[in-house]
Amino acid sequence: MLSEAFGRLVRSTVFKTDVARDPGQAGSIPVRLRQTTTATQLPPHSSPFREVSVDPRRRVPRTDAVLADARLVAAAATLGAGQVKAAVTAAQDRARRGEITPEAVADSAVAALPGLCASLRPVINATGVVLHTNLGRAPLSAAAVDALVAAAGHTDVELDLATGRRARRGRGTIQALRAAVPEAAAVHVVNNGAAALVLAATALAAGREIVVSRGELVEIGDGFRLPDLLESTGARLREVGTTNRSALADYAAAVGPDTGFVLKVHPSNFVISGFTASVPVADLATLGVPVVVDIGSGLLAADPLLPGEPDAASTLRAGAALVTASGDKLLGGPQAGLLLGDAELVERLRRHPLARALRVDKLTLAALEATLRGPRSPTWAALRADPATLRVRVKELCRVLGDLDAEIVASAAVVGGGGAPGLELDSWALSLPERLAAPLRSGDPPVVGRIERGRLLLDPRCVPAELDAVLASAVRRAATCT
Ligand SMILES: *Cc1c(COP(=O)(O)O)cnc(C)c1O
Repeated sequence: MLSEAFGRLVRSTVFKTDVARDPGQAGSIPVRLRQTTTATQLPPHSSPFREVSVDPRRRVPRTDAVLADARLVAAAATLGAGQVKAAVTAAQDRARRGEITPEAVADSAVAALPGLCASLRPVINATGVVLHTNLGRAPLSAAAVDALVAAAGHTDVELDLATGRRARRGRGTIQALRAAVPEAAAVHVVNNGAAALVLAATALAAGREIVVSRGELVEIGDGFRLPDLLESTGARLREVGTTNRSALADYAAAVGPDTGFVLKVHPSNFVISGFTASVPVADLATLGVPVVVDIGSGLLAADPLLPGEPDAASTLRAGAALVTASGDKLLGGPQAGLLLGDAELVERLRRHPLARALRVDKLTLAALEATLRGPRSPTWAALRADPATLRVRVKELCRVLGDLDAEIVASAAVVGGGGAPGLELDSWALSLPERLAAPLRSGDPPVVGRIERGRLLLDPRCVPAELDAVLASAVRRAATCT
């Protein structure tokens, strides 16, 4: 089948170049080159016709002939004609430059095709950072992936199939979230944690004041600062206290007729220690204005593993009017912003014109609902991975890769930008020469570890155990190409 396709390609190529009918190809080759080639440069299987045209660059097959290759026809159906054509053009260019033979053009195009239509690639996260923002934060559970795929086509996102009438968008997700946090009288879902805050600030405090502690005006990451985000809504910030200490009296002195709400932000990516004081939600709730709490990480209920991390249920019980959180941090779901709390406030947010611009798509709704209703998330599992089991896995990797200067070392995994700053999780890692880091990253699949003291550490905490063999092969390949 393959060789048949090639036979066809080669024949048509010979014919075309011999009569120089294709100006785009043959016509572009300088005459000097045509004259300097000799018959002895021909591959052994060449037909006698080829002896007339001897420069391999003149035998570059025509685009339509290459595109007729069965593999490329199939690829066009899954990757799109544009991507396949681009790969063919690139392969033809390589043949013209003499980097590959004209016969290899189709093979080269096939080899260069991406596995997926989109450029985002699945990566093995061996960093030991459970929620790595650069690696897309939380990986979805299989249940969430299934739900997302099922919702990808036409779906009843806003239609009641029983009555044929319009239905509330995301009602299943809303129900699941309310069931998970019974303390919330109402909930709403937006694009991300930042959007949840922006919606609250716009709907409840635009043109008014948000009273907030100086110690909580944090930078979320990549240069985005909470104060800038909040002020972009037209709300004014009324800062109280100092970087390390705020007292209830500071808040009380600042609250007045202009107050939209009091905001409390969980410092989810740093720890202040030493001479510090902050005011608990229960005390803020006595000030007589709504208290909005940005808990950041999306823990819905208290987790003994993460004692320093606030959760939505406890925060609402303490008297918060509204809690905002991310969906793709400790909750382990898709990127989303959760708003939970007082029914009247949530309804105001939901009805605000801005809400339409922040609404989530059906894929997010599906994945979030499955995360809430389904089995424990991969993030939950990674946080609880048993160090003894991780050690056994690393030892086995070490055994398989023993000839590559591989050793087992104790590692400290972390939760990452998504929460629980300062918390270290006992872990184990495969320690390798640092020079393997770059080839591992650019391999297939890409593997990302972390560099410590001149060694590359691969921590399997966030790597599904069934990928250990894939990880080992990736390391072996990386070692071969350095
Ligand atoms: C992560 C975080 C945000 C931003 O949430 P995104 O979902 O990334 O938009 C805001 N506040 C806190 C406290 C956070 O931890």
